Amino acid sequence: MGGGIVAGKIAFVTGAGSGIGRAVCQVLAREGAKVIAADQNGIAAQETQGLLSNVWINDHISVTVDVSMAESVNMAISDVIKHYSRPPSVVVNSAGITRDNFLLKMDEKWFQKVIDVNLKGTFLVVQTAVKAMIDAKISEGSIINIASIVGKTGNIGQCNYSASKAGVEAFTKTAAKEFGQFGIRCNAVVPGFIRSPMTDAVPEKVLQKIIPFIAVRRMGKPEEVAEVIAFLASDRSSYINGASIEVTGG
Ligand code: NAP
Repeated sequence: MGGGIVAGKIAFVTGAGSGIGRAVCQVLAREGAKVIAADQNGIAAQETQGLLSNVWINDHISVTVDVSMAESVNMAISDVIKHYSRPPSVVVNSAGITRDNFLLKMDEKWFQKVIDVNLKGTFLVVQTAVKAMIDAKISEGSIINIASIVGKTGNIGQCNYSASKAGVEAFTKTAAKEFGQFGIRCNAVVPGFIRSPMTDAVPEKVLQKIIPFIAVRRMGKPEEVAEVIAFLASDRSSYINGASIEVTGG
C-alpha cells in the first residue's frame, strides 16, 4: 500500500474537468486518494480521470454533475456511494463560472447564474455530502471551498462573481462551526490570479496590467493552489477549521 498525505481517502472534486479542479485531482491522486472527478462537462471529467496515476491506487472515477441542481448533486453522491460503498470524506468545491459586466450593465440572469453555480452549488454539494458522511458515521472529514481574492477586494466588472465568492467564505465559516462537532472541517482557499481556462478568457493586455501588482510578479499555477488544498484535505491540517487561506503570490 502506498503512502501520501491523503492515502486511502475518497475525494470528491467538482470543476474537475479544468484548471484548478483538474490539478487538485492530480495532486490528491499522487498523494494516495481515490478521486472522483466531477464536472458538468462529463468528457472533460473523464479526461481528468485518464490523467490520474498512482502506482498503488487505480480506483478513480468520473461523474457528470451540475452543482447548481439539487437532483444532479444527489445523483452524483449516490453514484459515489454505490461505487465505493461509502461516501467521500474529502470534498473540494472548484466548480465556478464568471459572467462579467459592469454593474450598471449586468443582466439579472447572469447575476443569478453566477450565484447559483458558485454559491448555491457549494451549498448543495456540502449539504448532500455531509449528510452522507454523518449517516456513514465518518468521523474525519475535510471540505475545501474555493473562494477568490476579489471576494475581499471587489473587482470592476465582477459584482456577481465577487459577491458569490465573499458568500463562499462566510458560508465556509458557518459550515465549520456547525460541522466541527462531527469531526468534519471546512476551509476556504482564496486564490489570486491563476493561469487557467477561466483567466485565459481575460485579454492578455489586462493580465499584463495586473501582474505588476502581484508581489512575486507572476500569475499562479493551478498546481500551486492544489498543493494547499491537498494539505487542507489531509490530517496534517487537523486543527485548521473555518480558515480562509490566501494563495495569491502576495
Ligand atoms: P475553469 O478552468 O473554468 O474550471 C471550472 C470548471 O467548473 C469547468 O470545467 C466548468 O465547466 C466547471 N463548471 C462550471 N459550472 C459548473 C456546474 N454548474 N457544475 C459543475 N461544474 C461546473 O476555472 P478555474 O480557474 O479552474 O477555477 C476553479 C475555481 O477557482 C472556480 O471556483 C473559480 O471561481 C476559482 N478561482 C479561480 C481563479 C483563477 O484565477 N483562475 C482565481 C480565484 C478563484 P465548463 O468549462 O463546462 O463551464
